[in-house]
Amino acid sequence: MRLDKLLFETGFGSRRTVKRLIKSKQVQVNGKIALVDNLNVDPQLQEVSVSGERILYQPHVYYMLHKPAGVVSAVTDLSNQTVIDLIEPSQRVPGLFPVGRLDKDTEGLLLLTNNGQLGYQLLIPQKKVVKCYEAVVNERVTSDDQYAFASGIVFDGGVKCKPAKLTILSQSDTESKVLVEISEGKFHQVKKMFLSVGKKVIYLKRLSIGPLQLDNTLPLGSYRALHSEELAALK
Ligand code: URA
Repeated sequence: MRLDKLLFETGFGSRRTVKRLIKSKQVQVNGKIALVDNLNVDPQLQEVSVSGERILYQPHVYYMLHKPAGVVSAVTDLSNQTVIDLIEPSQRVPGLFPVGRLDKDTEGLLLLTNNGQLGYQLLIPQKKVVKCYEAVVNERVTSDDQYAFASGIVFDGGVKCKPAKLTILSQSDTESKVLVEISEGKFHQVKKMFLSVGKKVIYLKRLSIGPLQLDNTLPLGSYRALHSEELAALK
């Protein structure tokens, strides 16, 4: 990869800053001062250092996890199993974290990566990444509920949600199976949206994050690396 890209990706500053570092002869490759920013380097085979300090290059990893209930979306936890514990120890690279949170009792799609920039892009509300959930609710969902979701639910305390799409998949007098599409990630958002219309979520599963769909051949609790097309669609 290009030397300037490597320095940018390992956190040495903006593209302009890293070019300046190279120009000011602070960067060495295998002990020799690098003279051009487009020098091709292999960070796993060559020693690259900035101001005498060797840089540690960790390639980015992207895992799709089918999160089971009972596991927390955290990197460490004193009393619960975490989503990181579900990753093979040899694949638990430094900096690996879950992109966003699912509640302990929520199942479904969770993305884990060590690429902080991508994680941030997927989480910020301005990007309006749509997350789709399947939910089972303890009552008959009505067209009034669909209208309330589409208008933007307001929580007790005045916090207003962005408009959301509520689709009824099937229902009886005592239960409804629905799809909920939201473009933000407030704490317990789907559960609280239903509570606002007097209903309780009894099962929740995330099916997609933007273009990334949960692979339904992936058993609960297991994970796989993203395919290159899946990653390209996310970036
Ligand atoms: N909304 C919730 O209420 N819980 C989740 O885990 C995700 C979205």
